[in-house]
Amino acid sequence: MHAIPPEHRCLTLVVAAFNEAEALPRLQPRIHAALDMAEAEGLEARVLYVDDGSRDGTWDLLRRFAGKDRRVALLRLSRNFGKEAALTAGLDHVDRGAALILDADGQDPPELLPEFVAKWREGYDDVHGTRLAREGEGAFKRASAHGFYRVIGALSRTPVPRDTGDFRLLSPRALAALRQLRERHRFMKGLFGWIGFNAVSIPYQRGPRIAGRSKFNAWKLWNFALEGITSFSTAPLRLATYAGLATAVFAFGYGGWVVVKALLWGDRVAGWPSLMAVVLFLGGVQLMALGMIGEYLGRLYEESKQRPLYLVDAWQPAEGVSSAQHPDLVPETRGVRHAHGAAAAGGEIA
Ligand code: UDP
Ligand code: MG
Repeated sequence: MHAIPPEHRCLTLVVAAFNEAEALPRLQPRIHAALDMAEAEGLEARVLYVDDGSRDGTWDLLRRFAGKDRRVALLRLSRNFGKEAALTAGLDHVDRGAALILDADGQDPPELLPEFVAKWREGYDDVHGTRLAREGEGAFKRASAHGFYRVIGALSRTPVPRDTGDFRLLSPRALAALRQLRERHRFMKGLFGWIGFNAVSIPYQRGPRIAGRSKFNAWKLWNFALEGITSFSTAPLRLATYAGLATAVFAFGYGGWVVVKALLWGDRVAGWPSLMAVVLFLGGVQLMALGMIGEYLGRLYEESKQRPLYLVDAWQPAEGVSSAQHPDLVPETRGVRHAHGAAAAGGEIA
């Protein structure tokens, strides 16, 4: 235990929760056990719950967890900012050591913690869980997810590992790197891939959610996919160029043929259907290209406003987590906590 460097002594489980009052009471005992396991391995372990503007009893429940266990830290956002922003908020508040991201619905088993920690200690910076099975998810979701990973893999130069969600452990330096990426449209899977470092995957069976309902419907998933593609690829913009080029080449050839035909056999005016077809086709292609440009332009606009990624309503750090054990780490920690507190009071952070 003495040989463990300070950076490798602390681990925070980060859990984003939005209306998870049904699932959390079943998850917390498992988290509790996982924290015990981590402590048995000589780690200073805690859990940080991020309440993403829940409207059910989630916050009260979390307060109760924190009352019972001093290793529970709480962060509440001012409204529902979405999972990506909630995770960002959580990771921003991990002031030292590594972070392990889990879903609040038990789909990412906390029991796997020792495996993640073992890989981290081997020197990996990004240890991610890769799903072997997707129980409790419909054929549509499975097929669309499969298609999505293929498309993003083909279009983007940033590696996005397949069937890998946000269930992952990030080393301190990976966390520091991630914190530098402050873009508004956050596609976390891509951001994790973008930072690089040593990544390794741990295969696991992903069960159905333990309680409550999924927050992502088909429309949200479609938008999520668009987000992913537009955040990490400009290939769609190029597609418009190529479609235009192909049409122009074809039109040139066809135009030549029309002239030759008229010269050789004369021209009886006909061809309304073909004219109509061409006009409609080109109109459609143009609108599509405009729409694609609009997607990027809209994102540029959002980015240019430079709004914070989220606003903090309340922040309650884990209490007395053995900072006495590691006096060498205390001053730095205080500074960070203080900064967060000030930012929270000011209502802005990011
Ligand atoms: N989540 C969140 N904010 C949101 C939507 C979801 O923090 O706006 C959290 C949610 O509480 C859960 C995780 O993101 O912990 C994954 O959500 P969910 O299980 O509904 O997604 P699925 O597993 O069905 O893709
Ligand atoms: Mg889920």
